[in-house]
Amino acid sequence: MIISALKSSVVSDKRSPIHIDTVKNLVNLGLEIWFENGIGEGINVSNESFIDAGLKMHSREDCLKNGNLIITNQALENIDIDLIKPSSTILGMVNPFSSQNLIDACSKSKINLVSMEFIPRITRAQKMDVLSSQANLAGYVAVIESAKHLTTALPMMMTAAGTLKPAKVFVIGVGVAGLQAIATAKRLGARVEAFDTRDVVEEQVNSLGAKFVKIDLGETGETDQGYAKELTEDQIQKQKDLQSKVCERSDIVITTAQLFGRPAPMLVDNNTIDKMMPGSVIFDMAVESGGNVEGSQIDNIVERNGVKIVGISNLASKVSSHASLALSNNYNNWISDFYNKEKSSLNFDFEDEIIQSSVLVYDGKIMNERFQ
Ligand code: NAD
Repeated sequence: MIISALKSSVVSDKRSPIHIDTVKNLVNLGLEIWFENGIGEGINVSNESFIDAGLKMHSREDCLKNGNLIITNQALENIDIDLIKPSSTILGMVNPFSSQNLIDACSKSKINLVSMEFIPRITRAQKMDVLSSQANLAGYVAVIESAKHLTTALPMMMTAAGTLKPAKVFVIGVGVAGLQAIATAKRLGARVEAFDTRDVVEEQVNSLGAKFVKIDLGETGETDQGYAKELTEDQIQKQKDLQSKVCERSDIVITTAQLFGRPAPMLVDNNTIDKMMPGSVIFDMAVESGGNVEGSQIDNIVERNGVKIVGISNLASKVSSHASLALSNNYNNWISDFYNKEKSSLNFDFEDEIIQSSVLVYDGKIMNERFQ
């Protein structure tokens, strides 16, 4: 079986779907691995290093034409799909909620499609969970990037020239990214507060040494996959009003609130921004899925009354080597679990919960009813 690993064509995405420290595992499974010329540019790994590790370099076109399993960090366009042979499989982060075209094209051409965004949240699948592996790094990057825009230091410093107060950081949304943002800000010495509609996270926030902000919104809760349920308009308004006071006293506000498969909720509006201190920073981690902050823009810093509103796409790409290592491990783990060495093919066993959830198209059929 030939695995083809593709380079991302998005300029800000420097991540590679394969990593030099993890490819050995696939080579040991007896798989032939082809990679697109220049795949390691964003992580400082040369073509030669991959060739030395036993991989073969080819053009994108040849990778697409010959791969039985194609690994990609982005949704493929029709021009790519047209080159792939029937019965091949695409495995990767394919942005499914914006990729109905890709899903339909795969179905038409009988190309199997595995969306790593749909890896179920069960213990056995944690090692394949791309959303968590990348959100974790993104949470770290959000703090580092926010700190760069602040004109104060994060930790308290007691110096002969006076005591410098620690920065106050407020994290809205305590999923994987939010937890890492809290942990990173704490390590850098900031005073951290956090809020989430899922009150089950209060204990996790406290265990990181941060303070959970209590806002009573009535019935909230989470889905069986651990995702937040959407709030009503009244609940959102109440949340905005009550968390506004915390924003006012914060130097950095990091928003991470997302809703799986739906636009992110708008949580920080101009009313709140106008009450914040000049020089403070709002980092909108949800900017790519609709945004949590009024006026935030993708890959832009918007200033309003001295408050900087930062929105950066592809956050995990800012630490591209670690992001690639984690992604490559996620893909490897999926392949290792479902590759049948004797038959030299993938084992699409739809009794398996991971296959059931992550395979969107199989043998021409759209398997997930959301996309039918
Ligand atoms: P996410 O990216 O969907 O959302 C980020 C956070 O925003 C969530 O915590 C969500 O509750 C919160 N949020 C949504 N609306 C909000 C609002 N109006 N105000 C404030 N916060 C709001 O979430 P995620 O990072 O995918 O994680 C969600 C949960 O799933 C976490 O508890 C995480 O630990 C858990 N998880 C479990 C597994 C597993 O068991 N394998 C894997 C990954 C994550």
